Amino acid sequence: MTAARSAAVPQPSSFKLEENRELRIAWSDGHITRFPLQIFRDECPCAECSGESDIFGEVKMPVQLPIARPGKYDLKSLTPIGNYAVAAVWGDGHDSGIYSWEYLLRMESKQAAAANAPTDPADN
Ligand SMILES: [Zn+2]
Repeated sequence: MTAARSAAVPQPSSFKLEENRELRIAWSDGHITRFPLQIFRDECPCAECSGESDIFGEVKMPVQLPIARPGKYDLKSLTPIGNYAVAAVWGDGHDSGIYSWEYLLRMESKQAAAANAPTDPADN
């Protein structure tokens, strides 16, 4: 963990919902992040959704029934909160998720790590 990083967190310059149901975020430092909406919702940082999970470790989701509510993964709006976060509103009415820029960047790192992770040897 580097403590110096917080002084220079890039900010999103645009959010765009793409036709393939990915949220495209362009950052002030020029890089692009894409989150499938399902991941974006599943990583909702509100207390109700996330519990006390460690985003860098194994995600410990609260126990929940495997029932997807209608509209759960339909992003209705993103509302800026000051200049540090956006609030997401979902098709099932869920609106308590506040995604700070730092949280979005952590999600990006986690997504990249998952994509590059070696296959679990137990699966071979
Ligand atoms: Zn939530």
